[in-house]
Amino acid sequence: MKFNTKTIHGGQSHDPAYGSVMPPIYQTSTYAQSTPGGHKGYEYSRTHNPTRNALENAFASIENGKFGLAFGSGLAAIDAVIKLLQPGDEVISTNDLYGGSYRLFTKIFEGFGIKFHFIGMENASEIESYVNANTKLIWVETPTNPMMNIIDIKAISTIAKKHQILLGVDNTFATPYLQQPLDLGADIVMHSATKYLGGHSDVVMGALVVKDKDLAERLYFIQNASGAVCGPQDSFLVLRGIKTLHIRMQRHCENGKVVAEYLANHSKIEKVYWPGFESHRNHKIAKDQMNDFGGMVSFTTKGNNYEDAIKIVEKFKYFTLAESLGGVESLSGHPASMTHASIPKEEREKTGVVDSLIRLSVGIEDIDDLIQDLEQAIG
Ligand SMILES: *Cc1c(COP(=O)(O)O)cnc(C)c1O
Repeated sequence: MKFNTKTIHGGQSHDPAYGSVMPPIYQTSTYAQSTPGGHKGYEYSRTHNPTRNALENAFASIENGKFGLAFGSGLAAIDAVIKLLQPGDEVISTNDLYGGSYRLFTKIFEGFGIKFHFIGMENASEIESYVNANTKLIWVETPTNPMMNIIDIKAISTIAKKHQILLGVDNTFATPYLQQPLDLGADIVMHSATKYLGGHSDVVMGALVVKDKDLAERLYFIQNASGAVCGPQDSFLVLRGIKTLHIRMQRHCENGKVVAEYLANHSKIEKVYWPGFESHRNHKIAKDQMNDFGGMVSFTTKGNNYEDAIKIVEKFKYFTLAESLGGVESLSGHPASMTHASIPKEEREKTGVVDSLIRLSVGIEDIDDLIQDLEQAIG
C-alpha cells in the first residue's frame, strides 16, 4: 500500500457491528463479561479501547512500523520512552530540542538518576565520544525547532546499532509524509499528534511507533501501567485528521516554499531558515532523507531588533500569534519571548535564537492571502 492510501486505509477495517466506515467512538470505560474473563478482547479502556486501537493501527501503518501506541500528549509519549530506562542509564539527545522535552528530561528524569547529554548532532560522528556502557538511548529531533537544523538519521542509526543503543526520533515536524525514521534505522518514532497528524489545532495527543515486538510489549506495559492514554473522542479526531495528512502536507510544503522564497528576497529580512534552500547548511541531508521540505520557516529581520519582531507578529492577520504548529491555519511565534524565554539570552543566541527571530507554521490557506499578510506586517 502506498503512503497516500495508508493515510486513509492503513490498519483500518470497517466496524463489524453495522459496517460503519469510520470506527465508532466507543465512549466507554469498561466492557461486559459473560463470565469472569469472558470478554470480546476488551476489559478496561486504559488498557484497550477499539477507537484508540483503530488509531494506533493507523499510526503504525503511516510510519511503516508494526505497533502503534497513542498517549494523552506528545510529552506523555516521550515519558513512556524514558521509562524504559533505569537509574544510572544515559541518554544522548539533540541540543536544539523542543522545550517541553528538555524540561521533562532535566526537571523530572534527571531527578530519577538518568543522565542526559545535550549535543549538536549535525556531525553524527561526534556522538561517539559521549557513548559509554551506560548509554541506552539516543534521542533525535529533525528538523529542529526553531532553527531548522537537519540531522542525518541514517548516520546516527549506524552508530546506535554498533553500540546496541536504542534510537528514538521525534518526527513531529517532518511527519511520515516527509520522512520515515524506522526505514532509516530508528527503533522508535514519536509524534506530538497535536501538530500535523491531528492537523486542526483541536486536540492534544502523542504517538509512538515501533517495529520490534519485544520493545512494543515493554511500551504497551508502560502505557497501561502508567496510564497516560488518550480518550476515544480524541482518538477519532486524530484518525480523521490523518486521512488528509498527505494533501495537507503537500499544500504546507508548497506554501512553505513560496513563503521562504518571498522572505529571502525581502529587503527587510536578514536570514531565512528553511531546509529547501541550497544554501541551507544541511540541504544535502534534507534532500536525501526528506521527500520535501515542509511548512516550517524561521527568519530574522535586518538590525535584529526585538521591537521590530514584536510589531510584525502583532500585525499578522492570518499568521495568528500562538504556541503550537502544524494545523491548517498559519501560526507565528516569537521564540525569544515565548518558547525560549526561560533560556538566558546569551545561551539562546548561541543556537541562533536571537531577538528578531520569528517562526512561522505556514498553513494551507490561499498563498496570495498569506503573502499579502507578510507584506502588510513586515512593510
Ligand atoms: C509539541 C511538541 C512536543 C510535545 O507534544 P505535546 O503534544 O504538546 O505534549 C514534542 N516535540 C515536538 C517537536 C513538538 O513540537
